[in-house]
Amino acid sequence: NSTQASLENDISGTDNKGFRGHDMLAPFTAGWQSTDVDPLIIEKSEGSYVYDIKGRKYLDTLAGLWCTALGGNEPRLVDAATKQLNTLPFYHSFWNRTTKPSLDLAKELLDMFTAKKMAKAFFTNSGSEANDTQVKLVWYYNNALGRPNKKKFIARAKAYHGSTLISASLTGLPALHQKFDLPAPFVLHTDCPHYWRYHLPGETEEEFSTRLAKNLEDLILKEGPETIAAFIAEPVMGAGGVIPPPATYFDKIQAVVKKYDILFIADEVICAFGRLGTMFGCDKYNIKPDLVSLAKALSSAYMPIGAVLVSPEVSDVIYSQSNKLGSFSHGFTYSGHPVACAVALEALKIYKERNMVEKVNKISPKFQEGLKAFSDSPIVGEIRGTGLILATEFADNKSPNDPFPPEWGIGAYFGAQCEKNGMLVRVAGDTIMMSPPFVATPEELNELISIYGKALRETEKRVEELKSQ
Ligand code: PMP
Repeated sequence: NSTQASLENDISGTDNKGFRGHDMLAPFTAGWQSTDVDPLIIEKSEGSYVYDIKGRKYLDTLAGLWCTALGGNEPRLVDAATKQLNTLPFYHSFWNRTTKPSLDLAKELLDMFTAKKMAKAFFTNSGSEANDTQVKLVWYYNNALGRPNKKKFIARAKAYHGSTLISASLTGLPALHQKFDLPAPFVLHTDCPHYWRYHLPGETEEEFSTRLAKNLEDLILKEGPETIAAFIAEPVMGAGGVIPPPATYFDKIQAVVKKYDILFIADEVICAFGRLGTMFGCDKYNIKPDLVSLAKALSSAYMPIGAVLVSPEVSDVIYSQSNKLGSFSHGFTYSGHPVACAVALEALKIYKERNMVEKVNKISPKFQEGLKAFSDSPIVGEIRGTGLILATEFADNKSPNDPFPPEWGIGAYFGAQCEKNGMLVRVAGDTIMMSPPFVATPEELNELISIYGKALRETEKRVEELKSQ
């Protein structure tokens, strides 16, 4: 029915497998899925593959949720966790007490991030908590500076920044707002920089970027620059549809943000640690952020951990006024959890030792070119991506203005064909997303491309059938 079809096409629709009569209120899953369809239960992982409880093997092209960068069974991460569990499974980081792994990880991250000098690292359990922390930090900073009105945030349509109240507000996807009374009133959204979908006839990428920067400036002026605290952006937009920035976009956006004394927050939760072929997304696009959010590949997802990096300009204000401000009363029981930090430290060590950025650059051309070769399929609107992240958007007539009827469920059909052939992809409406682990081998990428091709041919047939009905 149509409700079902539209649910399948919102962000939650990975496929039509949900939780039949399941006791768990499943995240990003529709209620009808929970009761009507068997879940896919994953039991084991190995390299780029996962196995379900029936022993079926799947190539996991999203690396879990864009996160298991080192694949499914990296023994060094297991050893790091075991060793820490056997020594000190937990101690906190409140009131100037802390643990060695959290101090070491903070230092390591500050050393690694070179796009702009960072002075402090704050630990969270997730990307959502990192972005919520950003908002509180920025408010705290502006309160310390005696600018109580400089509190609004600008994010972008189709951004994904998390699902807690504030990070969901920053997110620019209607599914995370509708029914939840969001976004919060202090969050504004500016244009999504998706050239294929939004450029005007005859407009070049550079002109498109100029127009978007002008729109951002107009929004700031309309609201009053003295009310805008920060701008947040993913270097490459992820869950909103894998959208790399158009040429000159970040140069122009950063110039506007700087002009009005607005902080720039880089949400590197997906992009960091090599996925784009650079250690950080900021390196790739010459972004000089004031604040950075990290999670996911930080521990290759073996333990939940996120982090916020804070520039000296921001931390100096907070530190220099600490007599007046008192305690920085923000933090989580598990901020700097020693086991998560020990695993993250080991993951970072592995990225360096194995030259993971170089490895990504070596294998990503096969991934990008192999899949982009399907761009001339009559049902493909656009295939876009960079490094080890890519999306396919289905559309009729190659046009963003001619989507297939949502009730046809074209994206879901493609996803089901992949699954039938032993491959898991992310489906959001008619957009298919992939971000394979950094450890993927050339053979595995060949398999990925081959299953993709098979699923595409089946989906082309399906579209022909539906058109002739
Ligand atoms: N920011 C970005 C860019 C993300 O992709 C995500 C998760 N997909 C988040 C933040 C939120 O992270 P988490 O799910 O760990 O809260």
